[in-house]
Amino acid sequence: MRVSNMYLGTLREVPAEAEILSHQLMLRAGMMRKLASGVYNYLPIGLKVLKNIENIVRDEMDKAGAQEFLCSALLPSELWKESGRWDVMGPEMFKLQDRNEREFCLGPTHEEVFTDFARNEIKSYKQLPINLYQIQTKYRDERRPRFGVMRSREFVMKDAYSFDRDEKGLDLSYDKMYEAYCNIFTRCRLDFSPVEADSGAMGGSGSAEFMVKSEVGEDEIVFCDECKYAANVEKAPATAEEGPEEDLKELNKIHTPNIKTIDELVNGLGINKKKLAKTLLFKADEQIVAIMVRGDRELNEIKVANALGGVVEFMMCDSEKVINATNAQVGFAGPIGIKVDKLFIDEEVTKMKNFVIGANETDYHFENANYGRDFEGIVGDFRKITVEDKCPKCGGNITIARGVEVGHIFKLGTKYSKSMNANFIDEDGKNKPLVMGCYGIGVNRTMAAIIEQHNDENGIVWPLEIAPYHIVVIPAVMKNEEQVAEAEKIYLQLQQLGIKALLDDRNERVGVKFKDSELIGIPMRITVGKKLTDGIVEFKLRNGGEVEEIKISEIIDRIKVEFEQNKL
Ligand code: ATP
Ligand code: MG
Repeated sequence: MRVSNMYLGTLREVPAEAEILSHQLMLRAGMMRKLASGVYNYLPIGLKVLKNIENIVRDEMDKAGAQEFLCSALLPSELWKESGRWDVMGPEMFKLQDRNEREFCLGPTHEEVFTDFARNEIKSYKQLPINLYQIQTKYRDERRPRFGVMRSREFVMKDAYSFDRDEKGLDLSYDKMYEAYCNIFTRCRLDFSPVEADSGAMGGSGSAEFMVKSEVGEDEIVFCDECKYAANVEKAPATAEEGPEEDLKELNKIHTPNIKTIDELVNGLGINKKKLAKTLLFKADEQIVAIMVRGDRELNEIKVANALGGVVEFMMCDSEKVINATNAQVGFAGPIGIKVDKLFIDEEVTKMKNFVIGANETDYHFENANYGRDFEGIVGDFRKITVEDKCPKCGGNITIARGVEVGHIFKLGTKYSKSMNANFIDEDGKNKPLVMGCYGIGVNRTMAAIIEQHNDENGIVWPLEIAPYHIVVIPAVMKNEEQVAEAEKIYLQLQQLGIKALLDDRNERVGVKFKDSELIGIPMRITVGKKLTDGIVEFKLRNGGEVEEIKISEIIDRIKVEFEQNKL
């Protein structure tokens, strides 16, 4: 492509709307522009990158034996009502009506659609296993769209759905996807980790998220320093710390006027946070639940939601509900006499001795409370793991790092096939539900994640396979006819070889051209300049390295070396 014919939307200024680097660079490099909150238009350069990522995904999915499909984004409500997710998805779903007032949504994901397809088409075990995928636009009215295409309201997802006869088959399909995902993210040159993810509430039996380590990530991941254990913090089990050996003291009500927060309590009573247990009140769908954790611990809401068998809406109680449950102002909730549907106790609390709890009476707490003697509840692991905890697998030390979830694979089992009656006749003549898996990759989010990991002060540094163009050819002085003619010749030669080349034939200073190609992240650059008279051009790699002076007759070989070295 001749740059003089291109729409090149590069910007020198850092756009104020963009908080994180990948978002800034996507705007500055002319990859995309914002249309509305969480909605973006792709410009030619950005679209090329997106397509390159799609093609890697497509290639690896095909190699893994999956078949490409394409479903509509406009989905009838009936399917979602059947699975129960019309309500479950809540406000995240874009809902609309046609002229006859039939309800539709813009697909946020496609489990229902593929299950419906399977139940209509798959009759016999002979048709199994199959894995169908699509690369298609999804719509989610995210509560907080942010960070550009990292969390947008319209995005491209590769979603795949596998159908098997039994769990063993599902395990195989799942393993193939696991491997395909590793190949995809390796080809994207991402530093990623597959981590164990929560699958409790969805009823599945296994799930892994593919996480790209990054400060801008919204997820927290636990890594073991000693074994291979890696898990989303949501999922990682925490071990209850043993409490001190003490004789049980008598429960005693104490006056604690105007003490409402944990910190006020700790300071007011002069005790350690480990000497008190907080009681948190949540509304979980229609139930009011209380959960107790040690004063210094953070609640893991996912663990509570799973203990409830999955909930749609899980939120802190407002003051009115707190007052109802405790007969006291906010800040004095405790387990004794509380009026809730369920009382969950983090296991650690059962190991504590003589601790402080709220008294369910305004301005009062109890001291010397003890589990079993003074109150009881449903005991389990309800707290968030911390760096002080040990690896749940090997007992080694752990680290916690931020990560961006670029992909997610999930053993669904028969959740959808049972609720939507998607059955097949097995070899033994019996009617059985299809055993399903689902597998997603956020294509645009992957693009942003690559930028987060591949950039420098001058802009993006695209890996060769992802780059919108492999190489840019720049005549140093546009008025120099020889330079322009030679650049043109090299450019045509590259094109004939199937190398994606740009010829920067704009009437601009060479410095401007360098800046643009660096900002966009073109991996290789050839400059036809002064040394042309000696039959020499300059060659430079975007990812560092010195300028190399290369004979024109050898330049193609030099480029081929790069392609060779970038092979996986
Ligand atoms: P998240 O926890 O980030 O909201 P999710 O669990 O809702 O993700 P899935 O439903 O598993 O995501 O979707 C599959 C993939 O689609 C994710 O791994 C992610 O890469 C991508 N994705 C999900 N939501 C968005 C979004 N709002 N914008 C861009 N990509 C997204
Ligand atoms: Mg989400």
